[in-house]
Amino acid sequence: MAIDLRSDTVTLPSPSMRQAMATAPLGDDVFGEDPTVNELEALAARVTGMEAGLFVCSGTMGNLGSLLAHCQRGQEVILGDQSHIYHYENGSASALGGLVLHPVLTNTDGTLPLDAIEAAIHLPSHNYHFYHWAPPGVICLENTHNRCGGAVLSPEYFAEVAAIARRHNLPVHLDGARLFNAAVAAGRPLTDWTGHVSSVQLCLSKGLAAPVGSLICGSSAFVDRARRMRKLLGGGMRQAGVIAAPGIVALTEMVDRLAEDHRNARILAEGVARLPGVSLDLAMVQSNIVVFRMPGVVEAEKLQAEASVVGLLLSDFGAGRLRMVTHYGITGDDCRKAVGIVAGIVGTTLAPGRT
Ligand SMILES: *Cc1c(COP(=O)(O)O)cnc(C)c1O
Repeated sequence: MAIDLRSDTVTLPSPSMRQAMATAPLGDDVFGEDPTVNELEALAARVTGMEAGLFVCSGTMGNLGSLLAHCQRGQEVILGDQSHIYHYENGSASALGGLVLHPVLTNTDGTLPLDAIEAAIHLPSHNYHFYHWAPPGVICLENTHNRCGGAVLSPEYFAEVAAIARRHNLPVHLDGARLFNAAVAAGRPLTDWTGHVSSVQLCLSKGLAAPVGSLICGSSAFVDRARRMRKLLGGGMRQAGVIAAPGIVALTEMVDRLAEDHRNARILAEGVARLPGVSLDLAMVQSNIVVFRMPGVVEAEKLQAEASVVGLLLSDFGAGRLRMVTHYGITGDDCRKAVGIVAGIVGTTLAPGRT
């Protein structure tokens, strides 16, 4: 079987998840009557220290539902130009919500410069330009930061953004698709981050290995609005307990093992970094994602294609970069093998014609 490092979304459910799916008590969740969904949502609220939680089909729906719950049409979403919401969600907040995406240049560590956030907030003032600008609606952060190679943003940084948001009476939404990775990597509780934001989206189907779904959490009033948005988006699900049940297993059994994914990512990163011509910043390998380039040695597309032939799947991350993601089902041995495969391809590329 191929060593599949394309994404942590390729994980298959654990045996106890399969078991939980088979035995979950069910009801109609649009009526609020699915006990398993209700249990998962209550658990999510507890874990994040927030008032309420909502189970949604995907991270994309979680982010979109959250933005729609925070903003009115015509308001601005201030977010990083390297964020998942800006890059990979089809411009849904604009296409479906009439929101204006206002990107701010992202630092290489995944943070947004505080002065840039401040400058992006258009203030009501006597300045006539105010009537040209869309009013701000929400500030978005992402942690860990996918396009910044799984970088972990600190709670201290979150506190600084929260202070700006408070001053302007704006909510902060956290795309925490991999917030559990950040918490495990930093050795701090999730609430160190969620305490600074108005809402959070958590993916169950990435490193936590559940087959489907995300959670969004926030105040009860926020979750009420988000629940309406979920229905509006077609995300009201009926006997959703069958997919919520593995989500409960994800939150209760799968968080601590993320440390193993992080150790395996180090094996990959340290192995690949030793190869000639590799550009890889080991300091940026902070969780389960490894991004590297081989400028002048082998093109990303070529390496990806040759690796896939011999059973290693990587993802092309644009701009000549390749991405490897560790996850449930990938062992330390798989990672050592993966390094060997990449080394083999680089070796033959550096010495063409060698047999
Ligand atoms: C995967 C991901 C999402 C979206 O989740 P889906 O379930 O794939 O829609 C959002 N944000 C980040 C940072 C992600 O990595």
